[in-house]
Amino acid sequence: MNNVLVYCEINEKGAIADISLELCTKGRQLATQLGCKLEAAVMGSGVKSAAETLYPYGVDTAFVADDKRLSPYRTLPHFEVLSTLIEEQKPQIVLFGASSVGRDLAPRIASKLKCGLTADCTQLEIGSHEDIKTKKTYDNILLQIRPAFGGNIIATIVCPETRPQMATVREGVMKKEILDANYKGEIAPVKVPSTLDAADKAVEILKREIEEQKIDIKGAQIIVAGGYGMGSKENFALLHDFAHLIGGSVGATRAAVDAGFCEGERQIGQTGVTVRPKLYIACGISGAVQHRAGMEQSAKIISINTDPDAPINAIADYTIVGDVMTVIPQFMEAYKKNLK
Ligand SMILES: Cc1cc2nc3c(=O)[nH]c(=O)nc-3n(C[C@H](O)[C@H](O)[C@H](O)COP(=O)(O)OP(=O)(O)OC[C@H]3O[C@@H](n4cnc5c(N)ncnc54)[C@H](O)[C@@H]3O)c2cc1C
Repeated sequence: MNNVLVYCEINEKGAIADISLELCTKGRQLATQLGCKLEAAVMGSGVKSAAETLYPYGVDTAFVADDKRLSPYRTLPHFEVLSTLIEEQKPQIVLFGASSVGRDLAPRIASKLKCGLTADCTQLEIGSHEDIKTKKTYDNILLQIRPAFGGNIIATIVCPETRPQMATVREGVMKKEILDANYKGEIAPVKVPSTLDAADKAVEILKREIEEQKIDIKGAQIIVAGGYGMGSKENFALLHDFAHLIGGSVGATRAAVDAGFCEGERQIGQTGVTVRPKLYIACGISGAVQHRAGMEQSAKIISINTDPDAPINAIADYTIVGDVMTVIPQFMEAYKKNLK
């Protein structure tokens, strides 16, 4: 009762999806702060062993609904089982990945349980909130933080009265971290109702075609990202050479993508992917808040920009003031020399 619950997704390999492991890591921190348990809901066919892999992330109880009708691609049966589980267990917080499954499931649950939901949070914290009208203070509630109004402000959203407090988070925003390899949790089997059949028939999957993902910069340890300041698609090619030389991947801002300098899959930021590399080299990027939302967790940031006052420089560990087309070739030259 009143615990933190994470809805865990199963990936193509039958394992727990990375986004769910990231949420369990965050959920563990929140549960520790609140002095409650961390629970996980795992649904599918033959998913018990996948659920057991959650213990090292600090999961105390994994509710497992093991039934072949709970295919990962049909959210309606998941909705039936999960909403009942939430009604019975009454968690105070429920977290979902902002994946296609989580984005479908979470609003349905919020609507059924008449509680709030904040999509695409970039931070989750426990804190207090004072209602300025009633002067009532709410302690130990979930502060759901995310960019709002076109990314021009960072808003903290709270659901002071209704429970559970629910949020979705995009992959890569939170860090996946093992708490204790020997952490002991338990499996709690969930009874799957026979009424599921009706929900199961609502969608019939005739065929599944998985398009091969050609560009995936999410897991890259080094990212060379280019912005509108690269000037052209031709100049952008230099970034590919640079990234190839130092073993990195190429990322981009929305302005660079919109200008046709590179593919949309490379876009980093609020409406692109979130990355957390060891090294992020920002080339001709101003550092708008929407871009920073997707890269500011990088371990080291180098900025190359002609403008010494570009906002990106405020979060960069090193700033090189200069023209990208001069600085990058010098950088590459120096790197090659040091390799010898
Ligand atoms: C709802 C919403 C969502 C958005 N989502 C995203 C998102 O996901 N990702 C994202 O990136 N943006 C996003 N944006 C857009 C964002 O607000 C900025 O417009 C964008 O990030 C700017 O990209 P930029 O830094 O490449 O371009 P600019 O802001 O034009 O900056 C170019 C920079 O290059 C420098 N420069 C110019 N020439 C050179 C040179 N020769 N050498 C070195 N430096 C040079 C300039 O000094 C400048 O700092 C979003 C906006 C909105 C409203």
